[in-house]
Amino acid sequence: PITARTGFDDRTGARHPFGDTDAETQVRSDDRSHVFHSWSAQAQIDPLPIAAGDGSTFWDYQGNAYLDFSSQLVNLNLGHQHPDLVAAIQQQAGRLATIQPSMANDVRGELARRIARVAPGTLDKVFFTNGGADANEYAVRMARRVTGRHKVLSMYRSYHGGTATAISLTGDPRRWPNEPSDPSVAHFFGPYPYRSAFHATTPEEETQRALEHLESVIVLEGAATVAAIIIETVVGTNGVLVPPPGYLPGVRALCDKYGIVYIADEVMVGFGRIGEWFAVDAFDVVPDLITFAKGVNSGYVPLGGVVISEPIASYFDDVSFAGGLTYSGHPLACAAGVATFEVFERDGILERVRDLGERVVEPEITSWFDKHPSLGEVRGRGLFWALELVRDRETREPLVPFNATGADAAPMGAVAAACKAAGVWPFTHFNRVHIAPPLVIEEDELRRGLAAIDAALDVADRYT
Ligand code: PLP
Repeated sequence: PITARTGFDDRTGARHPFGDTDAETQVRSDDRSHVFHSWSAQAQIDPLPIAAGDGSTFWDYQGNAYLDFSSQLVNLNLGHQHPDLVAAIQQQAGRLATIQPSMANDVRGELARRIARVAPGTLDKVFFTNGGADANEYAVRMARRVTGRHKVLSMYRSYHGGTATAISLTGDPRRWPNEPSDPSVAHFFGPYPYRSAFHATTPEEETQRALEHLESVIVLEGAATVAAIIIETVVGTNGVLVPPPGYLPGVRALCDKYGIVYIADEVMVGFGRIGEWFAVDAFDVVPDLITFAKGVNSGYVPLGGVVISEPIASYFDDVSFAGGLTYSGHPLACAAGVATFEVFERDGILERVRDLGERVVEPEITSWFDKHPSLGEVRGRGLFWALELVRDRETREPLVPFNATGADAAPMGAVAAACKAAGVWPFTHFNRVHIAPPLVIEEDELRRGLAAIDAALDVADRYT
């Protein structure tokens, strides 16, 4: 509906500032002067001013269109400007824009009920937060209160958020500049068959050795001090690592054996990314707590939360839960969450994600092995995939070194630039291109985006 050249949205009549160079200059100037950006050296970034978005596409001020193959930060599951979400927020704003968390509210209650209905096991109550990091903070606090223990174990290859305990849980280099960490966090190696820390040669061996390793860490840390283990059900920004068969049930068994709370971080994979409401359903495991955010309402209004199993929720029946947030369960955010459920159910989003993943993405990217020597491994599920790029397929030397910056990162920068020049905006991290488009992407758009990435891999092949 957006006509980039005229700047009008046919559907809403909204005017977008395409071609308005004065407006673009003002955006750049305000941003440069006054916006302090996340995860960046401020002088080294030049953020692209965005004028409009619709479905799986967004536009810059020049009217250039980009297919959003990263769903922003893997949150935009229902795409830009979804009419149902926009209408739900507008209606809620007209009715009751905000109400504090200790008062009951209809959309907050309805969203909690709907989440409880799709959550596994006895996970039946929801504590709402403003996003993913604070959801993890609160999950850890609950685990600590309930167990009376303090330690939390998380994977080296993980991201759990940018706030104090969440960044300590994070295993990847984003933690380093933020240390000293929460002293009660210890890290372990998760399964990663392509680069096995355990020298395993099969997924089954990887599972077995990774579980033996995790049990050793529990014992050596002192099992009686370990409150929780937190795991991204499919590891997200650290490589779309799908757990090998039996791994997560094995973690569940270790948690049961040692009385540890199992927290599934589903901030990135919950709400349809791999074609399930909660990704644990694909791996036959029921955790004690699930944290979510992003996809719950596509990030139209900040929202996250913790889904709590009955034994943990009932612990707080007579013991006060000492925690809260002014905007917990914000009505605008919850209204968008309720609308998300309606759209998922009406439009069969989960089925469509599984279908597009199995029928379109997996066969297409797997076929690239024959023509792209830089393709080391492809892995993923649903609409969540990673291409791991290498200089040498035999040695598996990564296309760029771990945590590369500046000139070292140039090959991946060139791949990303080639995608963007072809009108596709992917998420690239270290030596990987991630494919995570909105779940509403049309099949022809998906194929067009994949073709652009296919062509961009020619750039990577030059470094092999
Ligand atoms: N957990 C995971 C797995 C994530 O991917 C993220 C964000 O990318 C977070 C937690 C943090 O969420 P937020 O940025 O909403 O605080």
